[in-house]
Amino acid sequence: MATASTITPLAENVYAINAPCEAEIDVRALLICGRDASVLLDTLLCPADLEPAREVVESAGRPLFIVNSHADWDHWWGNAAFPDAPVIAHLLTRERQRREGARTLASVRRKDPEKFAGVALRPATIAFAGRLDLDLGDLCVELHHLPGHTKDCIVAYIPERRLLFAGDAAEDPIPLLNEGWCETWAGQLLAWVDRARTVVPAHGTVSGRDLLRSNAAYLQSLQAHDGKQPPELVNASPFYRRAHRRNVKRAGA
Ligand SMILES: [Zn+2]
Repeated sequence: MATASTITPLAENVYAINAPCEAEIDVRALLICGRDASVLLDTLLCPADLEPAREVVESAGRPLFIVNSHADWDHWWGNAAFPDAPVIAHLLTRERQRREGARTLASVRRKDPEKFAGVALRPATIAFAGRLDLDLGDLCVELHHLPGHTKDCIVAYIPERRLLFAGDAAEDPIPLLNEGWCETWAGQLLAWVDRARTVVPAHGTVSGRDLLRSNAAYLQSLQAHDGKQPPELVNASPFYRRAHRRNVKRAGA
């Protein structure tokens, strides 16, 4: 697990920004620098996590737009790092950010006041439903609703790079059911298999379409209540072993 945030190129004009998250896991954001605009997909835990990205954003010299993949706190509390950038999110995300943001921040701040001192909540300023395409001139960023981990989750696809930023809709090694069972989730993951070549989860290793297949198979096995240990958990961290036990309960609820 990383101890400080880092930025690394992932594809031409596409960068991954990684930061340590809670427990034993990291969280990842994505920066896309197009000809006419830059897009930051998610903003990690706090504005300081995005400092390694500042130079790339500024040297690109284009207007910046922030997109939040969903309203879980490890994906949008850094929005204030770029206070002038419009923040785009699904309608359900904006609703959650407004409803839950301050309460969750107060409780997390009690545990680690120093880490979260710099957080100023910036809920979405532009909200959409269904799908939204952002044309950056030479690159497009398609935003698609993909509920499952939470009801408000979206994924972002860059067709020119055949790259899918999955947020928490796909996760390595297994996805987390935070809001109970979702009937459409596995099928919606599989629908991306033919289009995406690179799959970038917010948590875990940058992967290919196999991650979509294995996450979908895992969700289908949860639904079938087959009771077997999923193969993904053989070498998984305690965090994901606990997550699997929670998933089993939530899938049955
Ligand atoms: Zn997350």
